[in-house]
Amino acid sequence: MNYDAVVIGAGHNGLTAAAYLGKAGRKVLVLERRHVVGGAAVTEEVFPGFKFSVCSYVVSLLRPEIIRELDLPRHGLEILPLDGTFTPMPNGDYLWRVNDHAKTRREIARHSKLDAEAYDEYGKAMVEMARFVKPILNMTPPDPLSSNPRELAKFWFLLRRFSRLADDDRYNQLQLMTMSAVDFLDQWFETDVLKATMAASGIIGTFLGIRSPGTAYVLLHHYMGEIDGAFRSWGFARGGTGAISNAIADAAREAGVEIRTLAGVARIEVNGGRATGVVLDNGDQVMADVVLSSVDPNQTFLRFIDDQELPDDFVEDVRRYKFRGSSAKVNLALDALPHFTCLPGEGPHLRGALSISPSVDYMERAYDQAKYGEFSRRPYIDMVIPSLTDPSVAPPGKHVLSCFVQYAPYTLTSGTWDEQREALGDAVIDTIAGYAPNIREIILHRQVVTPLDLEREWGLTEGNIFQGELTPEQLFFARPVPGWAQYATPIRNLWMCGSATHPGGGIMGAPGRNAALRILNRNRG
Ligand SMILES: Cc1cc2nc3c(=O)[nH]c(=O)nc-3n(C[C@H](O)[C@H](O)[C@H](O)COP(=O)(O)OP(=O)(O)OC[C@H]3O[C@@H](n4cnc5c(N)ncnc54)[C@H](O)[C@@H]3O)c2cc1C
Repeated sequence: MNYDAVVIGAGHNGLTAAAYLGKAGRKVLVLERRHVVGGAAVTEEVFPGFKFSVCSYVVSLLRPEIIRELDLPRHGLEILPLDGTFTPMPNGDYLWRVNDHAKTRREIARHSKLDAEAYDEYGKAMVEMARFVKPILNMTPPDPLSSNPRELAKFWFLLRRFSRLADDDRYNQLQLMTMSAVDFLDQWFETDVLKATMAASGIIGTFLGIRSPGTAYVLLHHYMGEIDGAFRSWGFARGGTGAISNAIADAAREAGVEIRTLAGVARIEVNGGRATGVVLDNGDQVMADVVLSSVDPNQTFLRFIDDQELPDDFVEDVRRYKFRGSSAKVNLALDALPHFTCLPGEGPHLRGALSISPSVDYMERAYDQAKYGEFSRRPYIDMVIPSLTDPSVAPPGKHVLSCFVQYAPYTLTSGTWDEQREALGDAVIDTIAGYAPNIREIILHRQVVTPLDLEREWGLTEGNIFQGELTPEQLFFARPVPGWAQYATPIRNLWMCGSATHPGGGIMGAPGRNAALRILNRNRG
């Protein structure tokens, strides 16, 4: 059978692209290698009764226009609030920021009155920065080498927006693109634990430390969702992050899209420089006018396509694209709740993010080990207990604890990840036990997801959670590679639509939507 479009991968971006094409009347097939849709935005019952957001665990960046245009609430999407971030400290104190502005101000003032003042100023500045960047998320990046008036108009649009920023904000924007998260935050704050916890979002998914230049931008990337209407801060999807993918899949099916699981793609068929379809792992052939790949460039161009079909310099650029996975997940099924020594009991602090990021030096030391090929013995851990907000994910009285862990470098100097998996799990539990000693007694089951698992099971090369690092040199008109940031590829009728394209990773849906709209309006750019 011949389809108008075949989409490789049913992650949330592939599904989003398919839904938009389906709604435009195209006959679309989505092919997913795993048994379930969602990719890194997936919920799975790993242990009986315990449903885990196995990879991604919180949502904020999902574009409001996608929620609206695909009518996702009608398809089951419900976002529940995640209230704040709690950082326990080794000296028995803590820092607890919540969504209530006045409370957070008082809490920060307990550590530093100056920082409480600066927090307001910082918040305002970041909102301005995020406002500047927001329309860029939905645009096809301009081609800096083109003299086509349409491309020049995009630069003009950006320049005009930039020139309208207040003077301070222009400098802030420049600093965000070039500085380290810590250097940037040093300009505003003096409290070490505050800087460490805030800087943490600058290193998510990168193989960089919070003192490495370039990490300030990722701060902004994670701040962007905070100005989006109803979804101002981070939240949980009821039913786990898989519920987001399921809602998009439902919208796609309603638009006539066919979705096949356990249907891995082995090859993209190219004839005369034009993609004509795909061949599945089982040898089946699917013909399509257009092929969209939501998997990373390594798989798309170096595995699915013969080198000879692609220009040499393009292949070189794809080989140079940096993955360098540095994150792992430890998912725990708990018999009871953890009790933090610094704030005992089952209070509301357990409903937000629980961040093991006690100091700037702690965070940088965690990176030091990774630089030399070891996982961090005392890692940065970002934890959430979704079962407190959404009891449907665990049996009554039990809980799920999701631990996002950095650093777990893809390449280890000694041993393999299959050998080191449990040692990483132990390091994570030991670290948590330093703040919540009852953790060891309450663990019923444990799942450790290493960068190698992310590569093998989810097809994420080198285990990079964003299908490639989100660093300034791999963003915007350079994502994934210079000259090919407009979702098109050197092969005619082959398009990219996953996190490896602008505007990058996170449960955002923007790459999928942008690519689909680009295909539907080919002449408009
Ligand atoms: C551990 C982890 C934690 C994260 N935490 C967060 C978070 O809390 N919040 C957030 O916003 N983002 C988070 N992210 C990032 C976010 O989940 C991803 O950026 C996003 O889900 C990627 O979506 P995608 O559709 O572009 O790609 P993917 O989700 O990677 O989807 C690609 C799909 O293609 C499939 N596939 C691969 N190879 C083939 C093949 N040969 N044939 C057919 N199908 C194939 C895969 O199985 C997968 O389903 C996290 C990611 C990870 C891994």
